[in-house]
Amino acid sequence: MSSLNLTAEQQDHLRAATPQLWLNPQYLQDRAILAAPEVDALYEAEARLQRFAPLLAILFPELQASGGLIESGLTDTQPFGTEFTKGCEGRLFLKADHQLPVAGSIKARGGIHEVLCFAEALARQEGLLDAEGDYRALNNAAAKEVFSRYRVSVGSTGNLGLSIGIMSAALGFKAEVHMSADAKDWKKQRLTDRGVKVIEHQADYGAAVAAGRAAAEADPYGYFVDDERSPHLFMGYAVAALRLESQLQAAGVRVDAEHPLFVYLPAGVGGAPGGIAFGLKMLFGRYVHCFFAEPVQAPCMLLGMAGNAGDAPVSVSEFGLSIDTEADGLAVGTASQWVCDATRNLISGVYTAPDASLYRQLYRLKQFADTEVEPSAAIGCLGPEVLTGEAGRAYLQAHKLEGLMKNATHIAWLTGGSFVPEQEYGRYLDKARVIAGV
Ligand SMILES: *Cc1c(COP(=O)(O)O)cnc(C)c1O
Repeated sequence: MSSLNLTAEQQDHLRAATPQLWLNPQYLQDRAILAAPEVDALYEAEARLQRFAPLLAILFPELQASGGLIESGLTDTQPFGTEFTKGCEGRLFLKADHQLPVAGSIKARGGIHEVLCFAEALARQEGLLDAEGDYRALNNAAAKEVFSRYRVSVGSTGNLGLSIGIMSAALGFKAEVHMSADAKDWKKQRLTDRGVKVIEHQADYGAAVAAGRAAAEADPYGYFVDDERSPHLFMGYAVAALRLESQLQAAGVRVDAEHPLFVYLPAGVGGAPGGIAFGLKMLFGRYVHCFFAEPVQAPCMLLGMAGNAGDAPVSVSEFGLSIDTEADGLAVGTASQWVCDATRNLISGVYTAPDASLYRQLYRLKQFADTEVEPSAAIGCLGPEVLTGEAGRAYLQAHKLEGLMKNATHIAWLTGGSFVPEQEYGRYLDKARVIAGV
């Protein structure tokens, strides 16, 4: 493993499953990464979501108020009191993707966009759209009949399955979700209730993806959403940055040489946090600092980013880790190589945390902010505190940010939770109370 950009001490932390902040030596704050085709693809994704908005407002009543756009709020934590923001220099916001409509998690962004890409290509190919290009036409019987011939499938630990399954079924596709054994029962149930076929696999997430991919390849009417290598997912996620930019403006937040922005993104296979970081870098360049966050038992993006361009990401199992975490949205053993290569120079660092810390944050979010999230989503709240540790201070020093922290804005990206059944959330809280000793 000599090719990994990890010190002996960092490797020890990985093996011992103890928390750390790994700073990315390949981070290039001024990299002119954002080649024109990539930037075009992001704006194309935003335009596609706009084209579909009138149709989505019909398919999902909860989208009527937003005219069919799937977006979440940006919450200022100041009203929650100094106890909540303790230790955080600057302002702290929560990006409320746990409340994203339709899918209830960050996966609404990428997953739904990819299903819409497929539906749009089919609609054009089959002449389902009229000259005006009114996408509401895709809700008629003729379009549904065409869509019903196709099967959209995906491998998922849960939330991606919800996003892909719900949207595919709503458009009239046959929908199939391959799930790992650690997927939550309520997520499977929710899909089954919507007519989505759930196929369970006893092995982990990687095996569920492989099985789904193989099944789709054998089916001429099959379309497989490949979480490990999908520009459509990535760009759907990246659209979040455009939306965030206007929300920051509305909140009177500046992002410039004097006002750094820190964003803490929970990472699984990498697509969601990678896409968002890509969009943020495009908009804010060197003034935004993106950190990924992972459970100590599943630091796959840390290992992926610690590799070099073109390397296959190393699995967490090589460090004796078992992906044993309650954060099912982040329970991934091997990162997406495609995402690692796309974001290797954009990410400032990756921090890891034990489940106990996630539960503590989950509890604090409920206690101070009356906000209910799933364990995966709580990990972003640790960011400001991580930044005050030794590695965090080294980062601030290296980038001459220490004197600017009173002007800083931090965003903890909350990624899932509003669909968690009350009983299940109650169990999370019980566990959090035991762990936090409250
Ligand atoms: C999937 C997911 C993430 C991470 O997204 P990846 O694309 O897998 O990195 C974070 N939080 C939640 C709740 C998720 O479901």
